[in-house]
Amino acid sequence: MELEFSLRPTAEESAPEEGAPEVENVVILGGGIAGFTAAIYAGRSGLNPLVIVGNALGGQAAMTEAMENYPGFPDGIGGVDLAELVQKQAVKFGARLEHDLAIEVDFSVRPFVVKTYGRTIKARTVIIATGATPRRLFVPGEDKFIGRGISFCATCDGYFYRDKTVAVIGGGNSALDEGLYLARLAKQVYVIHRRDQLRAEKILQERAFRNPKMSFIWNTVVEEVLGEDHVTGLKLRNVKTGEVSVLPVDGVFEYIGMQPNTEIFRGQIELDANGYIITDKRQHTNIEGVFAAGDVQSPDFQQAVIAAGTGAAAAIEAERYLAKLEE
Ligand code: NAP
Repeated sequence: MELEFSLRPTAEESAPEEGAPEVENVVILGGGIAGFTAAIYAGRSGLNPLVIVGNALGGQAAMTEAMENYPGFPDGIGGVDLAELVQKQAVKFGARLEHDLAIEVDFSVRPFVVKTYGRTIKARTVIIATGATPRRLFVPGEDKFIGRGISFCATCDGYFYRDKTVAVIGGGNSALDEGLYLARLAKQVYVIHRRDQLRAEKILQERAFRNPKMSFIWNTVVEEVLGEDHVTGLKLRNVKTGEVSVLPVDGVFEYIGMQPNTEIFRGQIELDANGYIITDKRQHTNIEGVFAAGDVQSPDFQQAVIAAGTGAAAAIEAERYLAKLEE
């Protein structure tokens, strides 16, 4: 999985479509569930929203094999399927999508300015739904083996590890969800957790403990990722005993939490100590006319349904704000 935006659009691809307004009513940054839900609501309000999709179409949802807790789908729905449906719904109601990445914003001027790789856009309101990105371990060997044995997305890369041995790092919902997915393909899944208790919800813990292919290595951290051209193992340290060991594995899946994609907003809007955008309960940031929704404004839930809810709220508030401007 690519963490950086590597495919810059050509000038032609990122040129505004014919008839695009000189100043956009609503520019939505991010093509995940939050951004596309905001686009559905803004589109249905006749605001002709522009979505700058960013580098991860579908956001975190698209990294999830199956969602069992998104309301309305009692048999679950694939993350990619859900993302595609929400996108389709947004386009149906008039959202315009631009496959580019916002690289700079200026919220000190009106209209606001959003720069992408391809062009400069003016906007009366902006909804930030840029999501969050998986955190990294930052241990020796990690840089070298990303894409060569280290992955952040079991759904994307699990297939390469059929009948192989993999390690999952972390003890949260993501680690167990994805570990259970990998256990369907791999021969053996080791979950390596720095404590002796999991953070994941009980139902996932029970499933994981029952799974004969999953084993837990407690109180242990990764010191180094080993290999030549591809990962062959992990150097581990038991934090209780100090004992260092080598675990042979073919692949490593890191699930140690998320960090918000807010670098370009630093100094422009208020962020909390962990870099998440601070909003009030109506999704307003401290800048009037700039709203935020989804994982970028809260580490507390990171749920597709909450992303959808906050995306809807942000769009409703953007519409109210624009209506007031016109009074
Ligand atoms: P998380 O809940 O923050 O868990 C991160 C895990 O990684 C924790 O167990 C943490 O250990 C460990 N960790 C953090 N930094 C580490 C480091 N440097 N080295 C080793 N281990 C480290 O993150 P998440 O699992 O990605 O979940 C993010 C959010 O999405 C959560 O709110 C979660 O509930 C939600 N989510 C929900 C579902 C679902 O509903 N099925 C699925 C996936 C995610 P400690 O426990 O010791 O802190």
